Amino acid sequence: MEEMIIGPRLYCCCNCRNHVSLHDDIISKAFQGKNGRAFLFSHAMNVVTGPKEDRHLLTGLHTVADVYCGDCREVLGWKYERAYEASQKYKEGKFILEKSKIVKENW
Ligand SMILES: [Zn+2]
Repeated sequence: MEEMIIGPRLYCCCNCRNHVSLHDDIISKAFQGKNGRAFLFSHAMNVVTGPKEDRHLLTGLHTVADVYCGDCREVLGWKYERAYEASQKYKEGKFILEKSKIVKENW
């Protein structure tokens, strides 16, 4: 019998397959991105962030930064740098990645 090697379930950049996040780091799948559903992650890897800017979102004012693939620079989502409403503070330092921009690997 062949032995299966089970690694962590990953998400990759849809464009270059760079590993950008782990399934285990998903906090919520109920977010809305610019192009449909988006996931909230506690961490992301191999990504770079753009300049911080204030945006009025459905849940109030936030300081956010766009998140790009560290390899191909595809825009994958955004990072919450700061939330102004107490109820939204849990999102600070977390990452939104759009479902349409990431693909599963190792599932
Ligand atoms: Zn990429």
